[in-house]
Amino acid sequence: MDATANTSVSIQELSLNFGTVSVLQSLNLDIAEGEFIVLLGPSGCGKSTLLNCIAGLLDISDGRIFIKGKNVTWEEPKDRGIGMVFQSYALYPQMSVEKNLSFGLKVAGTPKEEIGKRIARAAEILQIEPLLQRKPAALSGGQRQRVAIGRALVRDVDVFLFDEPLSNLDAKLRSELRVEIKRLHQRLANTMIYVTHDQIEAMTLADRIAVMRGGVIQQLDAPQAIYNRPVNRFVAGFIGSPG
Ligand code: ADP
Ligand code: MG
Repeated sequence: MDATANTSVSIQELSLNFGTVSVLQSLNLDIAEGEFIVLLGPSGCGKSTLLNCIAGLLDISDGRIFIKGKNVTWEEPKDRGIGMVFQSYALYPQMSVEKNLSFGLKVAGTPKEEIGKRIARAAEILQIEPLLQRKPAALSGGQRQRVAIGRALVRDVDVFLFDEPLSNLDAKLRSELRVEIKRLHQRLANTMIYVTHDQIEAMTLADRIAVMRGGVIQQLDAPQAIYNRPVNRFVAGFIGSPG
């Protein structure tokens, strides 16, 4: 398939082995510009590994990865135009929220005035303006995760990668932030790739869901299509329809 055109992220024949163990096998996935893709599957099926390959945090064993038509297979993570949000917020504990947001931009040499503008915009979008001078320890889990999203936002990335960003939150915060992420996607219209083992998150957030098992995509389709027409017993069981 053509790796350019409207394709935001194109994964071609991607394989990844840890030693002699094959975790991802000749995986193909084309994600359209602005699409919200959820990688859904049980623990250990390779979701985080796939996301880390896209981010450039793991060297792949075989295959190619394109982002916006450019072959990034051997590019550094910082040069891929991606921002990543992890389950554990990975904020700098000694820095204020504002410093957490500005740090990466400063390192990249972004002018001060531009940094200020970007932080103001991200703080408005994520509703964290009152929190800018606090340290992460003085934030709730939901607030920390907003700041973590803010760090990707200020970098103006093409693609957001989320790895189970809501798993550490209680049920109420989880559903609040889920709505927030959906809104963020509607507002920014960026490509988002979102890993979860939670069917409800997948069904409510995704344009398309890739259901994974054992390092293989079992089915890739719109939530309703997967719900109504699961291709096999595993997908039916995982999505929770009678299929
Ligand atoms: P998921 O995110 O879907 O829970 P992972 O991508 O974390 O799954 O892991 C997929 C498989 O790869 C699992 O069997 C896991 O044990 C294995 N794995 C992950 N990271 C490593 C590693 N650094 N070394 C060896 N095996 C790993
Ligand atoms: Mg994982």
